[in-house]
Amino acid sequence: MRRSTICFWLLLLAYGSSAQDSLWLARTTGQLPFMEYGIGDDRLGGAKMGFLDSNVLVKIVDSFKTDYKVRLSSQHYAYIAKTSLILLAKQANGSVAHNPHLSGNIKVYGDTASDYVVLNLDDRYPYRGMQLTDPSRVAVDIYGIAGNTNWITQLHTAKEIRNTWYEQPEDDVFRLYIQLKHPQHWGYAISYDSLGRHLTIRIRRQPAVLDIRRLRIAIDAGHGGNNSGADGVTSKVLEKDYTLLIAEQLRKTLKTAGVKQIFMTRTKDTSLSMPERIEMLKKFDPHLLVSIHLNSAGNDTVQGTSTYYRYIGFRPLSMAILEKMLTLGLKEYGNVGSFNFSLSGPTDYPNALVEVAFLSNREDEKKILSPKFHKAVAQKIYLGIVDWLNQQKPKP
Ligand SMILES: [Zn+2]
Repeated sequence: MRRSTICFWLLLLAYGSSAQDSLWLARTTGQLPFMEYGIGDDRLGGAKMGFLDSNVLVKIVDSFKTDYKVRLSSQHYAYIAKTSLILLAKQANGSVAHNPHLSGNIKVYGDTASDYVVLNLDDRYPYRGMQLTDPSRVAVDIYGIAGNTNWITQLHTAKEIRNTWYEQPEDDVFRLYIQLKHPQHWGYAISYDSLGRHLTIRIRRQPAVLDIRRLRIAIDAGHGGNNSGADGVTSKVLEKDYTLLIAEQLRKTLKTAGVKQIFMTRTKDTSLSMPERIEMLKKFDPHLLVSIHLNSAGNDTVQGTSTYYRYIGFRPLSMAILEKMLTLGLKEYGNVGSFNFSLSGPTDYPNALVEVAFLSNREDEKKILSPKFHKAVAQKIYLGIVDWLNQQKPKP
């Protein structure tokens, strides 16, 4: 890795430091590689464009401290952590590198659990998925590709996908549209098959019965172990202990309500990294995830409850929970979108982060310390989920 990096710079020197002339090919590697829009940074890291599968082919055009700048298409660039890329010992010829590859046929079908859109390509190219609403669609940009798809087979086994088509918004950006039958997004996942030539978009169907008891629900108690989170302004209690108490209460409430499949990312004071949590959640394959945190601000007058989402298609769940949380008499801190929280990153299932109240505010803290309040919060989150499910039912 280190040796390749040095070679990269020698090469740049040799070619008069014009990065554009000397595209280096690389492939993604490691756990959850992702693309960023820029090298901007905040408390939770830079704004993410999306995750990539492993072994995806990218073209490096520049090198920064911890990131490579990669060229996705003639007008699009992204930044990827150096630790997520393996440089190939091969330099792409400029003209070859700029020639788009061609898309092949598309097949749309379903199995017992999900629908699939499979696009034939000749390698693993970078992509970016987006949720669109009203009407609900998943759009996938595939970079460095020119449309040569003249055949989209659509089978009856696909239950959630209404239509699939593509556009070529730019010479080397191929955009696939997947229109859904239901307004609510239930999640999607993009990956390549083992040959690396079939880009597969798996679309999660809306459950046939919208009954909370039939859903697999995941609960994440924020922080834990060596990561204690915020602390109480007067009590000095730790966020990690109280997120666990509320999460445990939510588990009990759901169980009492008849939910059979509940998964908690932690049930003890465990240290867990975000990628570890994401991998655990992937295995459980939930219908939805609720993350529990307690907020904190430098200014102790800031207070109230808030919910967070990353992708627009998952906003309704976070809104429904917030509506119920507000009936607890907490002030409104708001519903926050495009939020760069790691567990809001996966597109596979609807998810909401609940920042119950502020540990840094005396009035909120008093509530947070009370076991009665934990029960009330759990009940409101439960009712929020039920409300959200009811919103998905067809109106008579
Ligand atoms: Zn937290």
